[in-house]
Amino acid sequence: MKTRMIFVGPPGAGKGSQAKILSEELNIPHISTGDMFRKHLKEQTPLGLMAKNYTDKGLLVPDDVTNEMVKDRLSQEDVKNGFILDGYPRNPYQANYLDELLSKSHLKIDVVLNVTSSDEVIIKRITGRRTCPVCGAIYHIDNFPPKQEGICDNDGEKLIQRKDDLKETIVKRLDVYNKETFPLIHYYKEKGLLVDIDGNRDLKAITMDVLKILEQQ
Ligand code: AMP
Ligand code: ZN
Repeated sequence: MKTRMIFVGPPGAGKGSQAKILSEELNIPHISTGDMFRKHLKEQTPLGLMAKNYTDKGLLVPDDVTNEMVKDRLSQEDVKNGFILDGYPRNPYQANYLDELLSKSHLKIDVVLNVTSSDEVIIKRITGRRTCPVCGAIYHIDNFPPKQEGICDNDGEKLIQRKDDLKETIVKRLDVYNKETFPLIHYYKEKGLLVDIDGNRDLKAITMDVLKILEQQ
């Protein structure tokens, strides 16, 4: 079973939702650098406040800061049976850093899942996205609405729209993805690790697909 994996793909292709489902299914941690920055911001840590200058604009947080944060996370005990990286690495520099970091522990990435989608579908998905500021649950006004409009199913909190999910920010994020993150596709393809996943399907169908891929030797 492949248990060290990376989700790549444009923002809004459904990486985060898929990573969460798999994390529960396989009982391995879901490591989302975006979630980590948001948590820091919520707790008003210096790192969180610094990152906000970038996240609000749809720009990447500087590599050194991001790499250091991931290094810390991957040094924790719970990653020993595997991990799901979501939103990291985000450019070839981060990918190289990750390779070196893992090789120090004689580890490597097993598979890179490239969730693909069209810009049109992505924009519709992201602008309809609503997040719980407390537990981090993600909903969608059409595709995955909460039981009660605007309210989190888990804890009754009022749902919000993330600043980086606003239309103008998405256009910027897609642009950043195409320029900075897209080269990673080539990087992992060359290593023979890349598998394409059609993200324009329902979550369950995608999970089934991914589980099959992880079981292949
Ligand atoms: P996400 O939820 O993965 O779309 O991330 C939200 C925002 O956090 C991004 O738009 C970036 O500003 C920042 N971010 C997340 N992951 C990274 C990363 N690996 N490198 C740099 N910035 C990141
Ligand atoms: Zn909640």
